[in-house]
Amino acid sequence: MQKIAIIGAGACGIMTAINAKWKNPKLDIVIFEANEELAKKLLVSGNGKCNISNAMLCEEDYFGEDTSLVAHLISKFSFKDFEYFCKKLSIYLQIKQNNKVYPSSNEARNVLWLLNKELEKLEIKISFSCKITDIKLEQNQHFALKSFEKDLGSFEKIVICSGLGAKKSLGGNEDALNFAKTFKLKTNPSYPSLVGIKLDTNYHHKLAGLKVYSKLSLYENKNKIASVKGDVLFTKYGLSGFGILDISQSISYTLMLKKKLVLEIDFLAGYLNEDIQEYSQKNLQKNSKQELENIFLNTSKDLETLDILSVLFGIIPKKLAKECLNILHIDKEKKVSELKQNEIKAIITQLSSWKFYPKETAGFEHAEVSGGGIKISEINIKTLEAKGLKNLFFGGECLDIVGKRGGFNLHFAWGCGFLIAKALSKKV
Ligand SMILES: Cc1cc2nc3c(=O)[nH]c(=O)nc-3n(C[C@H](O)[C@H](O)[C@H](O)COP(=O)(O)OP(=O)(O)OC[C@H]3O[C@@H](n4cnc5c(N)ncnc54)[C@H](O)[C@@H]3O)c2cc1C
Repeated sequence: MQKIAIIGAGACGIMTAINAKWKNPKLDIVIFEANEELAKKLLVSGNGKCNISNAMLCEEDYFGEDTSLVAHLISKFSFKDFEYFCKKLSIYLQIKQNNKVYPSSNEARNVLWLLNKELEKLEIKISFSCKITDIKLEQNQHFALKSFEKDLGSFEKIVICSGLGAKKSLGGNEDALNFAKTFKLKTNPSYPSLVGIKLDTNYHHKLAGLKVYSKLSLYENKNKIASVKGDVLFTKYGLSGFGILDISQSISYTLMLKKKLVLEIDFLAGYLNEDIQEYSQKNLQKNSKQELENIFLNTSKDLETLDILSVLFGIIPKKLAKECLNILHIDKEKKVSELKQNEIKAIITQLSSWKFYPKETAGFEHAEVSGGGIKISEINIKTLEAKGLKNLFFGGECLDIVGKRGGFNLHFAWGCGFLIAKALSKKV
């Protein structure tokens, strides 16, 4: 009977174990997990509702030095294949906005309970609170595992799916990279992704809690390198919210390369809902900047007596309006009709292309995932086995692939488990 060790009981480890056992019940599988329970990250995914996959998977939704593995993975393990896997465990799925997939129960805990039940049914052993600290290749080509000073025995095949550095508090670490390096496999530096950014402005903390639907554009040396639309949330440390998380991959990666960035935020994108409501576009045929300019220039009798701050209050959140005028040194009590042309221009420019200079992200502890990892060129993309070393497999987040927000990262972890299980269960 082949002895197989899986390091890490996250989405990838669980999927590997279940599928390998389904395909070959004779395998003797042990999962070693550093935490005291299964898949802590799965449990908090989608705010506990578990955005478990995405129904429109595409290679373009993933980043990394080489994303060819993603194309292969999706061709072998599509959303339909995942749905089939889930049905076998009585996990039913629902597709929501933007093709995000959630369990019908909307509870990650239920998903985990059903996965655990299957692991028990298949008699897959799990050794909790057991952090693997050492893997050695023995002369007979088996792998000897150690947890600190404790010998855990020797195994014919090893699967390393211990994730990467995001959220240390949930078990995130770089052990997989260290193991890879001991076997002379090349890695790319890791960086936090799907993460907030820190600012060193002297006002962002005053706006903490404010959420504005915006258009975000990222520039490196005046070249636009990314653009998204979504909510921007001011926090005590800087910026977060879905829009920021979505653009954070490009910010974090570019900062890692020590390049300077400018993040331009159009806080007027939500005004008139020009991006989200067809009505506005059809009926007004104007953009929000023109519309705002019209308000200022053709001030009606009704608005003539109003001060500039009051007019802005009707359009954007109060705190943002105040800060805009503070930055531009425009008297808040000035009447709209008294505004000079250059002041009108300055207000509109500030609100529609408010500039921030990201210097660092909020770090791994605030990140949902980590980019970077084991180079894809070091593994066989069909089996996920290390190219230079037989019977050593890597899967999930520890590989140099990171997905967008929306269930892409979990699907990647499930898919890696599926590919590894297929390779493990091949009769030799
Ligand atoms: C807050 C949060 C929300 C998220 N929400 C979503 C979402 O809604 N949708 C989505 O697609 N993705 C989401 N993600 C990302 C997703 O959870 C990960 O991409 C996915 O869990 C990666 O799976 P994995 O199996 O590769 O690694 P992990 O889930 O990180 O599992 C690795 C396991 O290995 C264990 N381990 C580490 N080192 C050792 C060692 N030396 N010995 C033994 N065990 C070890 C860890 O304790 C961990 O349990 C979220 C992540 C976070 C942090």
